[in-house]
Amino acid sequence: MPKSPKSSRPSPPSRPPGEPARAPDHGGPRRVGLVGLAGIPNVGKSTLVNRLVGQKVSIVSDRPQTTRERVCGILTDARMQAVLVDIPGILDPKDKFNQALMEWAEVGLRGCALILHLRDARRPDDPADEPVREMIRRSRKPVWLVWNKIDRTPGKMFLSGSEGLPYRKVLGLSAKTGRGVPALLDALAESLPQGELLYDPEQVCDRELRFLAAELVREKLFRYLGEEIPYATATVTETFDESPPEKVYIRIVILTEREAHKPIILGDHGAMIKKIGQSARLEMEKLLGRPVYLDLWVKVREKWRKNDFQLAELGLKPPKTY
Ligand code: GDP
Ligand code: MG
Repeated sequence: MPKSPKSSRPSPPSRPPGEPARAPDHGGPRRVGLVGLAGIPNVGKSTLVNRLVGQKVSIVSDRPQTTRERVCGILTDARMQAVLVDIPGILDPKDKFNQALMEWAEVGLRGCALILHLRDARRPDDPADEPVREMIRRSRKPVWLVWNKIDRTPGKMFLSGSEGLPYRKVLGLSAKTGRGVPALLDALAESLPQGELLYDPEQVCDRELRFLAAELVREKLFRYLGEEIPYATATVTETFDESPPEKVYIRIVILTEREAHKPIILGDHGAMIKKIGQSARLEMEKLLGRPVYLDLWVKVREKWRKNDFQLAELGLKPPKTY
């Protein structure tokens, strides 16, 4: 069993008072474990985490590689507690950024009781999947093959697809529509090892809220700026202050590589940044159950991707110990 994450991670604030837990705690023995979701970018890992947990914990995008850090969703019901680890997509190790991502992926797999290898049912032969298979093989963990997006492949049946990996199960589902998801839940509830809960049953997301807040802003950047905004944009929460009684104060900096991007992000008379801020703030308020004052800033930092120090500052270094 992995070391209890309780002892090594800060505990995020719990749910707002008055909000019910997902399921009553029956107190009996449950199946418990970390479940890794491994797969190439865009295969639907974040969508599946969100579907399983039933709340937006991981950002979803049409563009590959928007999950830059391990994301945990925690699914607790009367049968089990599955701690979902969204393993970042793996790319060729061309620069430090990608190296850091791959290290994250490997670290993420280490503690898992089980790995779900997610693949796009529309692209059963995608060669980009090979490094993922390689990584899973190296981990020597039990692995299931999960064909996602079956809503797009009517009539097709995937009974195997087990080239070179000893899959213990093969499932087909649609993270988007939810079809096939109950069967996955049943299988998890039967297969995870019995154990003590790793997390408070009311916790849905292990990640610090400040990181989630920054992710929400980045999601809005993607949504509203479309192709205009380059991939090389990061968001960092500088202040997350829950102490003011009337509003939570959140200050987030949008880092971009080029001076020329700044006016695009700000928009005409600040109209764009206002729109981004408003929609991000509404989601933060839903998440926190309290009014939020969101203070957004745009800063230019050339070549932040290439620089180790700045990577660390953005939280992209894998931890030394798990
Ligand atoms: P990730 O990069 O693996 O985390 O993938 P995302 O969860 O961000 O999903 C990438 C894209 O695939 C998004 O546009 C999702 O809406 C879409 N997607 C995810 N799951 C499904 C599915 O089951 N069916 C369909 N049609 N689209 C899906
Ligand atoms: Mg993702």
